[in-house]
Amino acid sequence: MLKKIVKNLKPSSTLRMNEISNKLESKGKKIYRFGFGQSPFQVPDDVVNELKNNAHQNKYLSMQGLNELRTAISKYSSNKYSQNYKPENIIVGPGTKELMFLLQLLFDGDILLPAPSWVSYAPQALLSRNRTHWIVTKSENNWFPTGEEIEKVILKNRKKNYLLFLNSPNNPSGQICNNLKEISIIAKKYNILILSDEIYSELSFYENFQSISQFYPEKTIISTGLSKWCGAGGWRLGHFIIPEALKELRDSLKILASETFSSVSAPIQYAAIAAYSNNHDEYINNSRSILKVVGEYVYNNLKSNKINMNKPQGGFYLMPEFLIKKFSTSQDMCSDILEKTGVALLPGSDFGFSIERMIVRLSFTDFNGQEFMDYIKKNNKLDTSLIVKFAPKIVEGTNKLKLWSESL
Ligand code: GLU
Repeated sequence: MLKKIVKNLKPSSTLRMNEISNKLESKGKKIYRFGFGQSPFQVPDDVVNELKNNAHQNKYLSMQGLNELRTAISKYSSNKYSQNYKPENIIVGPGTKELMFLLQLLFDGDILLPAPSWVSYAPQALLSRNRTHWIVTKSENNWFPTGEEIEKVILKNRKKNYLLFLNSPNNPSGQICNNLKEISIIAKKYNILILSDEIYSELSFYENFQSISQFYPEKTIISTGLSKWCGAGGWRLGHFIIPEALKELRDSLKILASETFSSVSAPIQYAAIAAYSNNHDEYINNSRSILKVVGEYVYNNLKSNKINMNKPQGGFYLMPEFLIKKFSTSQDMCSDILEKTGVALLPGSDFGFSIERMIVRLSFTDFNGQEFMDYIKKNNKLDTSLIVKFAPKIVEGTNKLKLWSESL
């Protein structure tokens, strides 16, 4: 009864690992939850209060998203990107994952995915019957493709339309793309559509965050939302910013929205107005400083002659590569690590790497961010002793992983 493409799919590896971790914990096993990536911080109080104040909102809202929310987002984004976005440029969805899926459904062409890429882009391509081209990247280029590497794929068939997924700061590598201009030149040359997944952009650790939309505004769709910077993954609220030049695409996306999720939960949309209108600079700065110091702690304590990785530059993740030969797949290695140490990780093969590369994704978010944040609001000194105090599982899990690698 089932379609073949669906039968061949397995549950999304991020959510699957979250559930495996829950199950093992409920059986009493101590799990270091380095598999799933969600914000360790609470939603800011003013935003939570707005959700409470709007619990009574019970009407369906407009299919593109509540006008007041789109106005707030367009102001916030115009300021962030030095652009002049209008509410019409915004489309609100129940998380960006759903919007990305609808984008893949309407797109007539092939998908370009840098390896590594987030776990759901490729399965969504499969479901939308789009062909995926993986572009191998190198750690020297921060695990992003060069213009030349992208061009090489396109030259195999210039007649097709292409949609490139670019995600910076990156999930899983934790790196920032430094060659956006070069990529934009190739994109312009071949009329490539770009989905710029900027869900971690508020959490860049340095002042160097740039969006490809600055170089290629006409064909870049920015994808972002509340999940990461506002600690609201479970609220499921994301949006696209779609430029005027892609108006036709925007209208089709709106139709697909109306035929699938209708409109996003009303109370959540009303609450999100506060997220985008009130000033959350302090909350974001504190989140960023804490994530940076925790990420660097893991990096400094894990890196060895057996474990290679790039220093984190933003977001929640590190991408260690184990220089060992014992396992035939990264999945097997992750299973062994989970069994022997309780550290949950995701295999690099879920992100587009070949199964033989012993690469994993490590999410350094298994700590109570709120306690940590409350403390540094009063004492702004951030050092390793605070990590031991506020992120003990990060310290313990990192140590277990290191010992595991040394035991081989
Ligand atoms: N983005 C998060 C992750 O990569 C989880 C959200 C999801 O996969 O839907 O772990």
